[in-house]
Amino acid sequence: MPMLTRLRHAMEAAGVPALFVSDLKNVTWLTGFTGSSGAALVTPDSALFLTDGRYSVQAEEQVRNMPTAIFGGSEGLLGFLAGQVGEKRIARLGFEADQLTYAGYEKLAAELKGVDLMPTKGLFVELRLVKTPEEVAKIRAACQLADQTFAHVRRMIQPGVREYDLGLDLEFYIRRNGAEVAFDPIVASGERSAMPHGRASEKRLEKGDFLTLDFGAKLGGYCSDMTRTVVLGEASPRHREIYDQVNLALSAALEMMRPGVKAGDVDARAREVLAEKDLDQYFGHSLGHGLGREVHDSGRLAKGSETMLEPGQVWTVEPGAYLPGFGGVRIEDDVVVTETGIEILTHSPKELLVLP
Ligand code: ZN
Ligand code: ZN
Repeated sequence: MPMLTRLRHAMEAAGVPALFVSDLKNVTWLTGFTGSSGAALVTPDSALFLTDGRYSVQAEEQVRNMPTAIFGGSEGLLGFLAGQVGEKRIARLGFEADQLTYAGYEKLAAELKGVDLMPTKGLFVELRLVKTPEEVAKIRAACQLADQTFAHVRRMIQPGVREYDLGLDLEFYIRRNGAEVAFDPIVASGERSAMPHGRASEKRLEKGDFLTLDFGAKLGGYCSDMTRTVVLGEASPRHREIYDQVNLALSAALEMMRPGVKAGDVDARAREVLAEKDLDQYFGHSLGHGLGREVHDSGRLAKGSETMLEPGQVWTVEPGAYLPGFGGVRIEDDVVVTETGIEILTHSPKELLVLP
C-alpha cells in the first residue's frame, strides 16, 4: 500500500482530519524527499509537499506522490502553511507533538489563529516499522554491502594497525561502492571494546584484544547496521566463554522472532541466556532497533516493549556483554520479519574469528 494511503488510514483511525507533517524523517518516509527543508500537509483528499526555492529541482525529482509548493521570500513555511490551511478550509489541524518545540508551537498557533490545533503522537511509529517489499530490497542491498565491507577489511586486522585506519578503510570501501556510511563506524579494541560506542582511536591492535567493528552502509537511501567481534592472536577460555554466550543469546533471540511475538519478550530472552553465565549485568543497552531510512528507525526491541512483531518489520538484533577492564563483545544482525519467522539479511560469519 502506498505510504500516503497508509498515513491516511492511520489519520482516520486516530481521528485526525488534517495533518501538518513537520518531522523531516517522517516527511522523507512519506514523500521520498531527502533534502534538509520540507514539510507536508495531508487531508483525506489532498496532499501537498512544501519546501523552499533551494529544493525546487530536487523536489521535482524525488517527490512523486503529491504536488510540490515552493514557499519563499518573507513568508516562511508557517505563513505559507496558514494560507493553504485557509484555502482548504481546514478547521482542525493535527501537528506532530513529538517533534515540535514549544517555541515552534507558539509560532504555529500565532500563524493559525482560529484553527483548532490537535497534537498527535507517534502516528508514524507503527507505519514506519513495517517496510514495503521495495524498501526491504534496498535494505537487503545495504546489508550485502556491509557483508562485503567486512570481508574486505578482514585482511587488515592484525597487530600494529591503528583502529583509526581500520575505520578509514571501512568508510573508504563503503563510499567506493556508491554508498555513504550509515553512521561513524565503531572500531574498539582491547579494553576499549568494553565501550559499546567506542569510536575509532589512535590505539593500535594488539594480540589478545577483542576487536568490535560496528558499521553500516546507506545505499539508495536505506541503511544496514552490523557488528562483528573478533579476537587477535589467540582466544583465551574467557574470550570464548563471553563470545559464545553472546552468540547463543543472539541465536536464541533470532529463533523466537516471528509475527505475533512481543518485542519486549525477544529482549528478555536474550537477557535470560546472558544470565546463564552472569553476563546480563554487562548488557546495558536494548537488544535492537528498527532499521530503514534511519539507522535508528522507529521501533525498539527493548525491555517491556509491547510492539508486536509483524511481517515487513526490519530489526537489528544486537546482544552484547561489556566487561570493564577486560573488553566487550557485540554481535549484530539485521533481520526482516516474514509470514512465518525471519529472514536474516546480514551473512558475515558469527563463529569466533581468531585473526593472526
Ligand atoms: Zn550497529
Ligand atoms: Zn544497531
